[in-house]
Amino acid sequence: MKQQQQPHCTLCGRGQKDVPLLLQGMEGHVCSECITQAYQVVQQEVNPTKARGGDKKRGPKFELIKPIEMKKYLDQYVIGQDEAKKHLCVAVYNHYKRLMQPQSDDEVQIEKSNIIMVGETGTGKTYMARTIAKMLQVPFCIADATVITEAGYVGEDVESILTRLLQAADYDVAKAEMGIVFIDEIDKIARKSDNPSITRDVSGEGVQQALLKLLEGAVVNCPPQGGRKHPDQKMIAVNTENILFVCGGAFDGIDRHIAKRLNTQPIGFTKDSTFHDEFDENHVMRYVTSQDLKSFGLIPELLGRLPVVTYLNPLDKETLLSILKTPKNAITKQYQKLFKMEGIDITFDDEALVYIVDQAMQYKLGARGLRSICESIITDAMFELPSQEEIKEFHVTIDYARAKFEKTVMHKMKKAA
Ligand code: ADP
Repeated sequence: MKQQQQPHCTLCGRGQKDVPLLLQGMEGHVCSECITQAYQVVQQEVNPTKARGGDKKRGPKFELIKPIEMKKYLDQYVIGQDEAKKHLCVAVYNHYKRLMQPQSDDEVQIEKSNIIMVGETGTGKTYMARTIAKMLQVPFCIADATVITEAGYVGEDVESILTRLLQAADYDVAKAEMGIVFIDEIDKIARKSDNPSITRDVSGEGVQQALLKLLEGAVVNCPPQGGRKHPDQKMIAVNTENILFVCGGAFDGIDRHIAKRLNTQPIGFTKDSTFHDEFDENHVMRYVTSQDLKSFGLIPELLGRLPVVTYLNPLDKETLLSILKTPKNAITKQYQKLFKMEGIDITFDDEALVYIVDQAMQYKLGARGLRSICESIITDAMFELPSQEEIKEFHVTIDYARAKFEKTVMHKMKKAA
């Protein structure tokens, strides 16, 4: 009698203590677990295709964001790199437009617009791809081309890339099949010489060959937990047709290939060419094409599957300073948030920020260096201040920054070198 007075779920009978949440209705209660289960049943029964990511005839349901809006979103996080942003946004937009197109017998088939980004380390290649994926709310993963080897050799199989994407999609295959994969250090798997070698090139051309099938669109069997395939393992089939691949690499020394090509082309430096007037010798990278990537050592078949080529500028002092201060999740803003949680206002002198940028420039780590330099300067404060409740303000001056940084291993190693 007493038990009946306790609120309980009308569907499963469990009491308030046994479920995360009990919602009250007009004539009874229903628990959150029954609601979740009921929702899944409805999804599967009423609209099974939608539950798997879309309707084959009408294309998957997907909220398409226009390139200009995409770029505006990127601008909030990524500083500069306008040219690369524009290329990336257009390629991503076209990719998802292609994905949404209704299946028809039309002769015009839109091809995939996989992207290759050329730029020094720490210039924002990965960050840009990750930010786009976050905006589109699609699964995203990063794979390092250098750890992949041809099947049968020590290292990871190319399929392991898709395993990572599956993990990012919580093993929802339909979701993973619409994701974005960023393959880093693609330049490190360049063919070692222009002549196909007589010995096996397991970490270079062999890997490029292995990547081909992923990039062009194929059904690939992936080991769910990664690692090497073995015969008893249950595989998950993933279709890569609608997965967008973005490759990035520093391509050290590619400027020589570009300059050589430009010099030997009739359009090169002829006197009356308009190209000559516009040619910017200090930024040769902006003229990068697939042809240069080919002379660098990427095989033409792979380049054929990476039709969009774009470049990222090296980050100058001004850009680095702006990266420290302005993006939505700028490093200084992150510290401010962390300290605020302790009730402390942290501020940075402009001179201190310039000092941090100068150090980052010297270490040639691009924006990646900023974080570690800041961290080495502020660690002591983060260690001590939480225990000093009377302190409500903390000001980082150039003297403080210099004193802390000069004590770091990073600085001492540089001095010794
Ligand atoms: P890479 O070009 O080597 O892939 P990343 O994208 O990993 O470089 O950049 C490293 C970090 O530096 C990023 O996580 C981001 O915080 C910062 N960063 C790099 N470039 C920019 C940029 N243009 N704007 C804002 N932050 C940047």
